[in-house]
Amino acid sequence: MGILQYKRPSTYLIVLSFLLFSFGFVMAYYVHSTVKNLEFDAKIINETGMIRGSVQRVAKLVLSDSPELSNEIITEINNLFDHFISDDERSRHHGVNDAVFDGIINLKGEWRSLESLLLQYQLNPSETIKRRIVEESEHCWIAADSVVLGAQQATEGKVGNFELFYTILAINAVTAVLVILFVLFYVRKKLEYESSHDPLTGLLNRRSYEKMVQSEIARSKRYSSKLSLILFDIDNFKLINDHHGHGTGDKVFTDLAAAVTNSVRETDMIFRVGGDEFAVICPETDANGAFQLAEKVRIRIENFHFSTGKKETISLGVAEFHDGINRRQLYQHADAALYSAKNNGRNCTEIFV
Ligand code: GH3
Ligand code: MG
Repeated sequence: MGILQYKRPSTYLIVLSFLLFSFGFVMAYYVHSTVKNLEFDAKIINETGMIRGSVQRVAKLVLSDSPELSNEIITEINNLFDHFISDDERSRHHGVNDAVFDGIINLKGEWRSLESLLLQYQLNPSETIKRRIVEESEHCWIAADSVVLGAQQATEGKVGNFELFYTILAINAVTAVLVILFVLFYVRKKLEYESSHDPLTGLLNRRSYEKMVQSEIARSKRYSSKLSLILFDIDNFKLINDHHGHGTGDKVFTDLAAAVTNSVRETDMIFRVGGDEFAVICPETDANGAFQLAEKVRIRIENFHFSTGKKETISLGVAEFHDGINRRQLYQHADAALYSAKNNGRNCTEIFV
């Protein structure tokens, strides 16, 4: 049961951390691919702009009879198309928007028509071809212009999509905060609780007892205040286990812990220090006061209706702290008193003298 309870929070922690990692990964990929696409859009805008200008220039040069320079520009224009369109003209570069790609194909068609007119004109200049060159270069200009506009719109759309990036960033930040809060408030608290409490009764454990008694002794010395310790142990507990089983024995422990907790002051601290042995640290209390409390607890247990239907009794030992003894000796004194109570027939309280 304990293992199951512990498994669940750590599973949540792993899932949250995984989400955090995944969001970070998606975000990094998204930023990377968007930046790459934007770079390619910028290339389309630049190079189509160059094609647009070169088409006008080459038409002007051919018509004014400068064949060498014009051939160089024609090759340059053909090379620029290769950046966006593969040889078979069916596949497009990753990241090029469909409409922009169609515009580039259209532009290349217009350019081919113009290119063949230019070659014809170089071989056989005529007024008809000249007029057609002027018309076709205008078509090329319009086609190139629409590609540039299309690429600009695609870029604006991608920049607008960056809102998704901010959303992922916000989700990432919230997840990180959740993980931190989870560790702080749940895992840490649970670990602290489990290391200081007895899992069966929910009372403070031996470890907590050692810490508390040390600090209460220090306080008692500093302020010269009284301090007492009560140790108690269930009478003949082995018989309960032997005759009714460990389950019944465990139930007696939980009932007893609840009954004792209700009998003492809030400032009195109760601990399960061993198998069926418990301790109560009583600050600001001398041995007589602790004896009275011990008797109150003893009588309460004697009259308590355990859920097992059995009657139980406890034996108690009381010791008062005084200068010159340490925490171990205080414990030994209370234990010796408890031993006397057992020897005196059980179900009674003895003070260490
Ligand atoms: P006495 O009156 O002298 O104290 O007799 P006793 O039978 O109570 O003897 P003792 O205190 O030495 O025995 C304590 C028993 O408590 C022994 C052990 O089997 C049992 N015990 C210790 N821890 C647990 C527990 O967590 N659950 C159960 N069911 N039994 C426990
Ligand atoms: Mg016992």
